Amino acid sequence: MARRKIVAGNWKMNMTPSEAVELVNTLKPLVENEEVDVVFCVPAIDIIPVVEATKGTNIQVGAENMYYEEKGAYTGEISPNMLTDAGVKYVVLGHSERREYFAETSETVNKKMLKAFEHGITPIMCCGETLEQREQGVTMDFIRQQVKVGFLGVTADQAKTAVIAYEPIWAIGTGKTATTEQAQEVCAGIRACIAEIYDEATAEAIRIQYGGSVNAKTAPELFAQADIDGGLVGGASLKAEFGQIVNYK
Ligand code: PEP
Repeated sequence: MARRKIVAGNWKMNMTPSEAVELVNTLKPLVENEEVDVVFCVPAIDIIPVVEATKGTNIQVGAENMYYEEKGAYTGEISPNMLTDAGVKYVVLGHSERREYFAETSETVNKKMLKAFEHGITPIMCCGETLEQREQGVTMDFIRQQVKVGFLGVTADQAKTAVIAYEPIWAIGTGKTATTEQAQEVCAGIRACIAEIYDEATAEAIRIQYGGSVNAKTAPELFAQADIDGGLVGGASLKAEFGQIVNYK
């Protein structure tokens, strides 16, 4: 069974609520596509206006992070219930920026993964190596470890619905895209790792995105690869170019 492509924008810490609505109104007609899942992952404060502005469209809304507790004394955090009540369907977990600047670890990512599934939110779990790790030849060892820990306790049925975003850290926001061969090789390695943890059926079902300076020029070749099921897009998701990326064919 062919996997459905998924193209998600990661807005990061950009767009005030009013700017967010303006951007949605610009992008709405450009991202229409019946064959691709389109997700806007937006800052917490933009979630409610973006859900409102995307009603009746093919756009689904995602959060950029989430806490793993249900409620309580966790000042500044957002619970899964808050997200689902607001209309959120996806959540980005373990983005390299959160791992680097906010002490996110694979263990906390795993707790968040389990919580997301419990609440019916689809996780987009990010993994990826540094340039140093790539040069040392340990890319796949490192990523396999991130995936194994991230999926601890996740059932095969849950894993089948998950999304993994392979994002080489050296390619994020740098304008350097991994070559198609590099991206396909790692995404195939991630799929093999899922087959080892679970089985072939789960590996065949799970969707694996590439992320790292994806643009309208690079998307067609990247997304045509056997193991690349779409992209997680940062910078270019804030521009009309995102429409070309969604409609990459
Ligand atoms: C990202 O933020 O996940 C990302 C891939 O950013 P960019 O496309 O800007 O490299």
